[in-house]
Amino acid sequence: MSARGTMLLESGIWRNTAKCREIDPTVFFPIGSTGSALRQIAAAKAVCGDCSVRDLCLDFALKTNQDSGIWGGASEDERRQIRRKRNGVHRKVS
Ligand code: SF4
Repeated sequence: MSARGTMLLESGIWRNTAKCREIDPTVFFPIGSTGSALRQIAAAKAVCGDCSVRDLCLDFALKTNQDSGIWGGASEDERRQIRRKRNGVHRKVS
């Protein structure tokens, strides 16, 4: 991450332009991962896809270990995968 990116991330100023500020926050915290939750996850990801601070949001979620909800267009499981990749931890496939 660039020095500017780090400054923006740590200042929290990125939240000011977050697309989700205009959306019901419950959309970003679906309960479960089936049925209506899948539609909710898709709706949240669509908002994130149009958000100018998506990368900063994802970095924030990873850095602060947000373990629920959609952040930066990524679900809990997707963030776990990203974290593993970034940490260089790979599962051995047998
Ligand atoms: S990426 Fe998604 S959750 Fe993050 S600030 Fe943007 S709209 Fe909100």
